[in-house]
Amino acid sequence: MVIAYLSLGSNKGDRVGYIQQATSVLGMSEGISIVRTSSFYETEPWNCETKNWFVNAAIEISTTLSAQELLAECQRIEKQLGRNREAEGHYGDRTIDIDIMFYGNEIINEDNLLVPHKFIHQRAFMLVPMLEIAEDFVHPVFGQTITELHEALENPEMVYLYGTRI
Ligand code: AMP
Repeated sequence: MVIAYLSLGSNKGDRVGYIQQATSVLGMSEGISIVRTSSFYETEPWNCETKNWFVNAAIEISTTLSAQELLAECQRIEKQLGRNREAEGHYGDRTIDIDIMFYGNEIINEDNLLVPHKFIHQRAFMLVPMLEIAEDFVHPVFGQTITELHEALENPEMVYLYGTRI
C-alpha cells in the first residue's frame, strides 16, 4: 500500500463538479482509497494560453496500484469525464486534469511519467492545497517539506492575490 498525492484541476464547465466526480470515481476504482481531500481553490491560469480560471484541489490516496497503473487509471477517468487531449491541445481548457504529484517517496523518471511532478515546487496551485492535507510531507528530490517549499515560492503572496479558497 502506497500513499500518493494527486492534483486535480478543471477550467471548463462545472469545475467543482468535475473535481468532485473525479474524486468519487477515483474512490470507486479498484485498488484506490481516498484518505483526505483539500478545499477547492480558484486560481489564475499558469503557463496556459487560456484566460479561463481553474479550480484546483489535492487529494491523498492509498493505493495498491503501481505508479503506471495509477497513471493509466487517472487518464481513463479524465477521458470518462469528457477530457479530449487532441481537441484541447497541450495547454488548452480542460474539464479535468489529474496529475500524480507524489507516489510515496519514489522518484520515477520514465518517458511518460515523472514523479514527483516536475513543477510542484513552482506552483502555488499544487502547494497550497497540499499544505492543507500534508504540510510535513518531504519532497523526495529536494528534501524539503511542503511548508518549506511553499515558503520558498518566489512570490508566496500570489496565493492570496490569485488563489481564492472557495
Ligand atoms: P497533461 O496534459 O498536463 O495532463 O499532461 C499529461 C502528460 O504528462 C501525459 O502524457 C503523461 O504521460 C505525462 N506525465 C508525466 N508525468 C506525469 C505525472 N506525474 N502525472 C500525470 N501525468 C504525467
